[in-house]
Amino acid sequence: MANLAIDAQKEMTFDAIVIGSGISGGWAAKELCEKGLKTLVLERGRDVKHIEDYPTATKNPWDFQFGGKIPLEQQQEFGARGARIQESTAHFWMKEKEQETVLEKPFQWTRGYQVGGKSLLWARQTQRWSNYDFEGPARDGYAVDWPIRYKDLAPWYSHVEKFSGISGNRDGLPQLPDGEFLKPFDLSCVERHFQKTLSANYKDRHLIHGRCAHITAPEEIHREQGRAKCLNRNLCNRGCPLGGYFSSNASTLPWAEKTGNMTLRPNSVVHSIIYDEGQGKATGVRVIDSETQQTSEYFAKIIFINASALNSNLILLNSTSSRFPNGLGNDNGLLGKYISWHNYRGHISGRSEEFQDMMSTGKNPSHSYIPRFRNVFKQETDFLRGYAVGFGSSSRAVQFSRGGIGEALKANLFDRTLGPWWVSGWMQGEVIPIETNHVRLHESLKDKYGIPQLVLSCDWTENDDKMVLDYMAQMTEMFEKAGFTDISARDSHSAPGSDIHEMGGVRMGLDPETSLLNKWNQLHSCKNVFVTDGACMTSTATQNPSLTYMAFTARAANFAVEELKKGTFD
Ligand SMILES: Cc1cc2nc3c(=O)[nH]c(=O)nc-3n(C[C@H](O)[C@H](O)[C@H](O)COP(=O)(O)OP(=O)(O)OC[C@H]3O[C@@H](n4cnc5c(N)ncnc54)[C@H](O)[C@@H]3O)c2cc1C
Ligand code: SF4
Repeated sequence: MANLAIDAQKEMTFDAIVIGSGISGGWAAKELCEKGLKTLVLERGRDVKHIEDYPTATKNPWDFQFGGKIPLEQQQEFGARGARIQESTAHFWMKEKEQETVLEKPFQWTRGYQVGGKSLLWARQTQRWSNYDFEGPARDGYAVDWPIRYKDLAPWYSHVEKFSGISGNRDGLPQLPDGEFLKPFDLSCVERHFQKTLSANYKDRHLIHGRCAHITAPEEIHREQGRAKCLNRNLCNRGCPLGGYFSSNASTLPWAEKTGNMTLRPNSVVHSIIYDEGQGKATGVRVIDSETQQTSEYFAKIIFINASALNSNLILLNSTSSRFPNGLGNDNGLLGKYISWHNYRGHISGRSEEFQDMMSTGKNPSHSYIPRFRNVFKQETDFLRGYAVGFGSSSRAVQFSRGGIGEALKANLFDRTLGPWWVSGWMQGEVIPIETNHVRLHESLKDKYGIPQLVLSCDWTENDDKMVLDYMAQMTEMFEKAGFTDISARDSHSAPGSDIHEMGGVRMGLDPETSLLNKWNQLHSCKNVFVTDGACMTSTATQNPSLTYMAFTARAANFAVEELKKGTFD
């Protein structure tokens, strides 16, 4: 009997455990497996295999039962985002009943629970942070200082960019360092026109090609992954059979699998981390099987938490022991606090009356981008930090109408006259983390697995409101200088979290009194636990965040392997 128990324990024991198989978890799995560690990847959602589990990838518009939309009663199952969910991708979005939450204040928490997480759904925009971003908190005193600078992450940005395949142009801007780029997607004639007027009118404002995780010119490393050139189908979120864009499913997970070192266990909801008081370290995780509701325990020397920012907070808060009664690593009471996100409230649209002899052909899965220009080199406004801008020009559409009857109706329907170029811009603002913006566990309410529900309590501040006003004024001025007409700038007043870039709660820092993680993403007080998703973010900058999570994850995983070899975690 004793031998059987030892064998069973062995079966549940690995070198490393990774919680979550999305963008950051996929990277942890790849790096740890490549370095020879037997790695268990625990994923709460179902399995999604590259290509074979993309049921809508090659469907035509007329193949969809409801013309692309989902019926009203189904929309409600997805909560606030429901009306925007498409028939073609609905199967990758989480339905609210899977994980109920308590919204103390309005918050839109978007989740994708499956192998691959939100890497199947993301918009693939990827920009590096600069030193101006890492130095932000130290300069103005909001949030604690980052324990690293750009030079610490730069080689890891290169490492993840080369493997993922990032298209972009080398623009030489100090506030947005260049990366290892494949050739960029073209700008449209209207984008090029806007680029020129910005350069002519402002020294500090630049319109550049969006930098995005698409393989525009495959290299050997991409071919080895079985991925091919992006053909601009722009149907990415259905899953790309070509692997044209980066997802965990197409890239990091199959790579980890190939090493023979990965055990991927879908339908495994991590309940909490097991902390052993005697050994003074984490020894494993408790898991609930989402299909059978059975619980089990898995063990490893190192644990990577990559469940997406708010879930990583939840897991740590729920990991209590007599050493850590308020959650693992939470000696200073700051776990779950300083939650932050991006401010996407500002929008602008307009039209260009020019270029009537031009039209676009094909599709572009990216767009253009104006890097942050406010408060970069010095404080110049009455709000802190700044915003970047996404910018796009839509293809000219046929202007048919359904007016008239008989011959007139026919003529209107067959009218192939092209309409104008429409342009739009959207704000990507930095939100300052403050202590009162937090998540915590509800005292009594549980989800369907018996895990405490997460209470979300986050709100905008005056800084965010001022930033939106500045965005609208500056963008209106820039649109006017470009000669655009019909300009409409507005504040959507959307709820926090609508940007899908939630961050913080387990922030990095130099001082264990004011932060949870050290410069290697280890919990200060439980060093064999690493948190490398958005939860680790001390501040948010304006860049789309996932590339930075990838770089942090690869850096921390390689550090963990070195330490493991030295016997640090024995
Ligand atoms: C429409 C959309 C557009 C976006 N566009 C961009 C963009 O252009 N650029 C950008 O940088 N970012 C973008 N994002 C955000 C990006 O998707 C996230 O930043 C990124 O996926 C975060 O990676 P992650 O590994 O932390 O989380 P995820 O990719 O969400 O993966 C987390 C995984 O953990 C699993 N999990 C959660 N809890 C548990 C548990 N208890 N036990 C086991 N498993 C668990 C989940 O099921 C999930 O698979 C976008 C997101 C969406 C939805
Ligand atoms: S645009 Fe590129 S990545 Fe997206 S579906 Fe098409 S080929 Fe795939």
